[in-house]
Amino acid sequence: MLNCHYCQSEASTYVRYAKMHLCKEHFISFIDKKIESTLKRYNMIRKNSRILIAISGGKDSAVMLSSLSKIELNLLPVYLDLGIENYSIEARRICERLVSMLGMKLIIISLKDLIGMELSELAKRAHRPYCSVCGTVKRYLLNVVALYAEVEKIAMGHHLDDLITLIFKSLLTQRLEDIAKLGPKTESMEGLIGRIRPLYEIAESENSLYAEYSNLPYLNFKCPYAHRGDLEIMIKDFINRLEENFPGIKISIARYMAKNVDKFKSEMKWMNCKSCGLPSSSECCSFCRIIKRATGESGSIVKEKIKEKIIDVLS
Ligand code: SF4
Ligand code: ZN
Ligand code: ZN
Repeated sequence: MLNCHYCQSEASTYVRYAKMHLCKEHFISFIDKKIESTLKRYNMIRKNSRILIAISGGKDSAVMLSSLSKIELNLLPVYLDLGIENYSIEARRICERLVSMLGMKLIIISLKDLIGMELSELAKRAHRPYCSVCGTVKRYLLNVVALYAEVEKIAMGHHLDDLITLIFKSLLTQRLEDIAKLGPKTESMEGLIGRIRPLYEIAESENSLYAEYSNLPYLNFKCPYAHRGDLEIMIKDFINRLEENFPGIKISIARYMAKNVDKFKSEMKWMNCKSCGLPSSSECCSFCRIIKRATGESGSIVKEKIKEKIIDVLS
């Protein structure tokens, strides 16, 4: 039996890159400290900031919320219910359980309440793939909630393995401009709230252990539309083998990338969407184009509905 590096309890896991055997309790505090130092290292937030926490029902956002709840921050957990069959119903239940377990209040934004239809119908009417519509809708809704809730940043639960996998994929496919979006944070600008990734240096396996040791509720099945390509699976396998041979290399890669992501930024010409007024790279933002095509209405109606909801919830 091996003892924990910090106490006399039996160790539950070995963290290779830190060369430490840890019991459950000390593993949780090791990850909490790592997340707190990630916030500081990348200058993600200021003390007492109000942060929107995007939770999905999955284990990564559950770990992020649970860990950040231990720091002096004003957290606003938000769940976007896009109406994806049983997946959304179950995810919503889990988010409610998690948030009440942590003694917080959850804001739920339902796509059906906003536009009268769920994701699958919206995508069909807009003639676009589900995941592409889902990504656009989520980005837009989170930004509008963040604007009206006057938060400083939006925290996303993307972890180290997914980020490095996407960086390698962008290099292999030469979509270099995508790398600019894979750093630890983006800055805010007028009408667009910046994002932070508190799990930037936390591996997927660490998230799993943290969620298990902390008894966090999370969904154990994936979205029915989820599809991970063979290339991503092979890259992930490759970086995990690299980590086995060179413990700590994933974190080193993430730190190198954090210094260089801005070099991959393409010159974006921002304008205001003619429909909703928010920043857009074209005359009409992609959200408003989807809504117009699917419902015939303007995206600004959705914006107004969210504004009313947020004023109501926060008053
Ligand atoms: Fe959205 Fe599901 Fe696609 Fe993920 S897999 S982007 S949740 S539709
Ligand atoms: Zn211990
Ligand atoms: Zn718009």
